[in-house]
Order: sequence, then C-alpha cells, then structure tokens
Amino acid sequence: MTQKPSLSGVPARELVGILSRLPSYRAGQVFEWINKGIESFLEMDNLPLALRRELDECFCLRKTSLIKKLEDSDGGAAKLQIGVSGGIVEGVLLSDGAGRRTACLSTQLGCAMGCVFCRTGLMGLTRNLDSAEITEQFYHIRKLYPDIANIVFMGMGEPLANLLELRRSLQVLCRTMSPRRITVSTCGLADGIIRLADEGPAVRLAVSLTTAREDLRARLMPVSSANPLRRLKEALLYHQRKQGRRVTLEAVLLGGVNTGTEDAAAMSAFAEGMNAVVNLIPWNPVENICFEGIPLKEPSGADIMCFRAELEKRGLKTVLRRKKGRAVCGACGQLGAAAGSGH
Ligand code: SAH
Ligand code: SF4
Repeated sequence: MTQKPSLSGVPARELVGILSRLPSYRAGQVFEWINKGIESFLEMDNLPLALRRELDECFCLRKTSLIKKLEDSDGGAAKLQIGVSGGIVEGVLLSDGAGRRTACLSTQLGCAMGCVFCRTGLMGLTRNLDSAEITEQFYHIRKLYPDIANIVFMGMGEPLANLLELRRSLQVLCRTMSPRRITVSTCGLADGIIRLADEGPAVRLAVSLTTAREDLRARLMPVSSANPLRRLKEALLYHQRKQGRRVTLEAVLLGGVNTGTEDAAAMSAFAEGMNAVVNLIPWNPVENICFEGIPLKEPSGADIMCFRAELEKRGLKTVLRRKKGRAVCGACGQLGAAAGSGH
C-alpha cells in the first residue's frame, strides 16, 4: 500500500498551495491543528465534517511511529526510538535542574561526516530525513512530555547537510516556538552557515569546534579539510553580523587529546572578535572507538577543570554540560545504537 502524503512538517505557505481549492483561512486552521500535534483530521472540529473526511482520505498526519521509550532512572532524560521508512531515528528529551525541558531532534538517518569520536558518525549516512520526519519527532516527544522550552538539533545527523528539509521543519516549528529557543548544531559547514544566515529562520547556532588546532581538528573531524578554521570563522562572523546572536562553540572533551593549554590558547584566538560562549561536553564513551590506534577516553575531572580555567583566564565564557542521558544512550554522540540495545 502506498502511503498517503503527510501534511505534518509542511510550512504554512506551502499548505495554502496544497489546499488551494479551499479558502486560505482553512489552510491556516489545518496548519494550527497539525502544529498542536493532533493525529487525526477528524479531530479538527472547526472544519466541516465532509472536509475532515476528505482530508483524511487524501493525506495522513504521521509517517513515523513511536517504537520505544527509554527513560533515565532520575527522569532527567528520555530517548524515543522513532520508526521511519528504512530505519530508526532517535529523539531525546533532556530536563535541566530547574525542570526546563529540551527536545533534541535528529535530521538524518546516520551521518556522513565521520567525526571519529561520535557513534552516529560510525554508522555512515543512510539518508536525509524530510521535514515531516523531523517535526514529527517533536510531536512525539511533546505528546509524552508537554511544556518543552527549547529545541536543539543535536541528535543524529548533520543539520546543514540537509538544509532544505531542515529549513522547512524550522519554518513549521518556529510557529510554535520562538526561534530564540531553537538551536541548530553543525560540525562547521561554512556554506550552510552562510545560507542559513541569509535565508533564515533566525535560529541560534552552535558549532562543534572540538578544537581550534587546525591539524588536530582535521584528524578528528574530516569535515575540516573542506572547511578550514579561517573559512569557518568568516562564516560565523557573517552569521553573527546578520542575526546578531551569540554563537555557541561546542567542545567535546577527549581525555588527553584536546584539553591542553595549547588547545585553550587556540580556542581563545578563534573566538576573538566573536560573541561566543564555549559549551564544554565531556566525551560520552562509545565502545570500540580508537583515535589513531589509541582508545579514546573520558577526560578526568582535573582535565575538565584545568581546561575550563585556561579558557576563562583568557576571557572566554564557558558552560559545562552535565552528563545527561547516558543511561539511555541518549547523550551526545551516543545516538545510533541498534533498537533495543540502549544499555
Ligand atoms: N552533527 C551536528 C549535530 C549532532 S552532534 C554536530 O556535529 O554539531 C551534537 C554534538 O555532540 C556535537 O557537538 C558533537 O561534537 C557532540 N558529540 C559527538 N559525539 C560525542 C560523544 N561521544 N560524547 C559527547 N559529545 C559528542
Ligand atoms: Fe555527524 Fe555531528 Fe556525529 Fe560529526 S558529531 S559524525 S557531524 S552527528
């Protein structure tokens, strides 16, 4: 049976075109209902019943399904395994100490970027997700955990390698959440950063810098060869000029690899002239990962403290990310475990 096209993830303007037979206010009503997360056209009770039935015959509202929910025992994180055609993607719910909830969404099934420290990178890329598959992750998460305060695109995949569908999903999600509360994290695709700055929406940007030592970054993140640090910095400054927002530089801390004084100095030089905050993410273990023949290891508490102090000494603002979601393998870089094996 061929699946009916899904209307979830369709931006309001496109919906007016798809439903062009109807007065445009009807498309607006349908859009509002979809973005509230309803799963059946029949529930759209301000639409005539005949129209609801007609929509139901032609379209669907879910092309993905919730397969499994894995919750951390302390309630701080949950990983939702969501079935998409050809595989499983993961959406994650993170709660901070104050109970604020953040939904973490995936944009690809796998990832082609091959960062050596990341489990998703090990999988390789199967395919891009479309806007319906991206926004539906949010609806699945919000149904179980209402009152989501933020959305981050830090799940599986590289958002800017799927720019078209990313932007469509952002256009939808920005109607339910302020763009200031949405963050797209990229491994540093300079052209994508510039296009997002030009074309919007004006969401926040996080860049997985990892290290600002060019040679080391190239060894850890193959994407660096085509996107050297100078080019990346230019793109970030351009984004900042256009959007006027502070950029987050993410640094996954790898024990004994990128937490030295030299790394701190390079990072502060990179951040010069930028309105930036550094997000320090202690590496979450991924089994069987080696870097140039040596197994990667977590940074020690002392490594983290010293590196942070070196950055702050140089005037950089830092935030240390708490270890959330490990028990469900839903922490950064741990996404991609086979269904059911979430430890
Ligand atoms: N592809 C995008 C977004 C998904 S990765 C990107 O790379 O930015 C989200 C974040 O998880 C990135 O900052 C990445 O550096 C980090 N990360 C990857 N593997 C990790 C691991 N094993 N432990 C901790 N953080 C990791
Ligand atoms: Fe892909 Fe991001 Fe993982 Fe790198 S860190 S492999 S870009 S998901």
